[in-house]
Amino acid sequence: MQNPKIAKVAVPGPFLFPLDYLLDAEQDLLTTDCATEIKAVVGGRVWVPFRNKKVIGMVMEISESADYELSKIKPIEEVIDIEPLFDATQLGLLNWASQYYHEPIGDVMLAALPKRLRAGENAEISGMQYWQLSAEGRSKTLEDISRRALKQRRVFAQFLDQKLKSESDLNAELENWRSAVKTFTEKGWLETAHGPCLRESNYAPAPNHTLNDAQKSAVDAVLESQQIQKRFQAFLLEGITGSGKTEVYLGMIESMLKQGKQVLVLVPEIGLTPQMVSRFEAFLQTRVAALHSNLNDSERHCAWHLIRTGQIQVLLGTRSAVFTPFKNLGLCIIDEEHDLSYKQQEGFRYSARDLMVQRAYREQIPVVLGSATPSLETLHNAKTGRYTHLHLKQRAGVAKLPSLKLLDIRGEKIQEGVSRPLKTAMTQHLQAGGQALLFLNRRGFSPVLMCHDCGWQAACPSCDANMTFHMISGQNADGTVAGYLQCHHCDEQMAKPHSCPSCASEEFVNVGQGTERLEETIKEWFPDKKVLRIDRDTTRLKGSMAELTGIAQRGEADILIGTQMLAKGHHFPNVTLVGLLDIDQGLFSADFRAAERMAQLILQVSGRAGRAEKAGEVLIQTHHPDHPLLTTLIQQGYDAFATKALQERQDALLPPFKYQILIRAEATHPNDGMLFLESLKAGLQNYWQQWQEAKMVEADIDFWGPVSAPMLRRQGRYRYQLMLQSLNRGDLHRLISEMQPHIYNSPLSRKVRWSIDVDPQEM
Ligand code: ADP
Ligand code: ZN
Ligand code: ZN
Repeated sequence: MQNPKIAKVAVPGPFLFPLDYLLDAEQDLLTTDCATEIKAVVGGRVWVPFRNKKVIGMVMEISESADYELSKIKPIEEVIDIEPLFDATQLGLLNWASQYYHEPIGDVMLAALPKRLRAGENAEISGMQYWQLSAEGRSKTLEDISRRALKQRRVFAQFLDQKLKSESDLNAELENWRSAVKTFTEKGWLETAHGPCLRESNYAPAPNHTLNDAQKSAVDAVLESQQIQKRFQAFLLEGITGSGKTEVYLGMIESMLKQGKQVLVLVPEIGLTPQMVSRFEAFLQTRVAALHSNLNDSERHCAWHLIRTGQIQVLLGTRSAVFTPFKNLGLCIIDEEHDLSYKQQEGFRYSARDLMVQRAYREQIPVVLGSATPSLETLHNAKTGRYTHLHLKQRAGVAKLPSLKLLDIRGEKIQEGVSRPLKTAMTQHLQAGGQALLFLNRRGFSPVLMCHDCGWQAACPSCDANMTFHMISGQNADGTVAGYLQCHHCDEQMAKPHSCPSCASEEFVNVGQGTERLEETIKEWFPDKKVLRIDRDTTRLKGSMAELTGIAQRGEADILIGTQMLAKGHHFPNVTLVGLLDIDQGLFSADFRAAERMAQLILQVSGRAGRAEKAGEVLIQTHHPDHPLLTTLIQQGYDAFATKALQERQDALLPPFKYQILIRAEATHPNDGMLFLESLKAGLQNYWQQWQEAKMVEADIDFWGPVSAPMLRRQGRYRYQLMLQSLNRGDLHRLISEMQPHIYNSPLSRKVRWSIDVDPQEM
């Protein structure tokens, strides 16, 4: 008898390899009506039985040999896709990701699919829901809406062009539009309509820039590699802020489109995607698809479908877009490659940047990593010749880099976090008609609420952390401001206590300063200026980030106050002064990456100044004006800083000179995580010892810990970690691969939540 065919199916669950299912159970694979055989395909989804349930899986391979006892292998229940969603190269990437990140293949597969496809819906999608003016609505004008109903007028104005509007169209233009849309729908002025995924669109006129020489040679370098060699090559495009990196990407993309190729552009999660999409569409005069967190499920599905079928050629997406299947991918670009949002910090802890490079390698196409402040990992790759290093050293157009100055605030009189010289500079710049931007990376009113009489501090009941006091939006019945406490680690919220739980005093003091408090102070100091705060609270409260940055961009606010949300990517042409209030903690953190992050943040925030005709000035308050890393950064620039920081990493044998894998464990019982990691460490060391003896080699793996996490208790769980470090990446991965099945089977592991973090970015 011929061997039956076996489908190797990736199913969700703790399995590092696909499971076996029978392919040729004809009764299941024949459709009864038309009797044509529907076959499972490699790269397509199937429903399979699993522990009395039916689950979705992805066929990774079809083979004649089984890894499991043949008589026990169950047949596939139902075939979903008759055409592959992922081709062999893309499946190869998913397999690689599963092995490299030690993540079960089924979970990798799920992460690679849009939510609707994870639920078994058809890959094809005919369209999605839109709103449009009804016949009645078309007879109305703005005059028919009360002058006082501002929001309704703004929303209605969006529809006057008589086009279909999707949720993300409205999100891109408006905040809190839903209630107005609901009102108009109830009135019969708006109606919902099913429209195609791909609509025609009006593009803004293309800007009339000619690339400068540096931009042109960067574009040419990448295109040449692609034309002559048609193979993988990685480029680091290091261009100072405002040097026109985006135009370089666009130049490359334009040429790719002419060749009929598609392009994947990854962008950080900073709410800038809608603006980027418009900018790309204007330049390229073609539709660009977007995948980011502000889309609903059908919008995501549509974008995914349009890219997979090649109806749209350019995809702009955040982290998980790296998995999107393309019909004819020709180029990968990662903007702001140093950005932390590319690293998934929970569940499947992948780095989208690293996966993108791996993907380009597998597809044999070029990949471009762009940044003004490249990560030390990427710089190291450029310095050692693995990546080709391209530079843009001048700002584009007439703009000049701002001057950076350290403000020594030792002994200075500081009022509410702002030193006198900074205040003076603000006055001057505002008088000259410029905007000022103040950067403080702490939202809320104050990080600590303390009892004035006994020193009690409001701590989070579930974390080893203080709760941040928020003033805004808490109001007592009598109209006085109440405020609330929020833990920024677990999001738990509670009302501000009326009196101290420890001594019953009613007098509290706010220790330290957050953006809310700064806003209050600045409004007092500059009563006739318009102050705009941009942080997670205001962008959540007031709706879309796009609207607030629009106000900032058009110069409708004089003073901008913000956290790192405001630091990245934005183009505020009229900002001439940037003040950084509190950056010192980056100099003395236990995390070896803190200095790198601080330098990146300083330069990114500084990069918001002087982006147009007017020159910019950046003032950095510090208590450590002589700190060598800081002075190197300010006086000699990022490259000098990075060289120094890389040297320190090399001396200390830290990444990128060594490879790391961090194993975390947490549990509600204080000791379980520690016990688990101790036993794991013993197992790992024991295995490693035997391996070395058997191979008669002496390999290098360091074990650090287990130790408690920097914040031991978080969300009621006690957290510990064990670090493994080696000069040899292969050794490290071999060790983990060998041990992983034992971890799944260990009784201790059931008491804890554990995870493996390869190339961890946060401790
Ligand atoms: P980056 O991404 O490097 O910070 P952008 O690509 O956003 O810089 O460019 C900064 C500004 O300079 C933008 O307003 C852009 O339109 C403008 N710009 C870029 N390249 C040119 C050029 N060659 N000529 C004139 N203006 C340019
Ligand atoms: Zn007290
Ligand atoms: Zn908490």
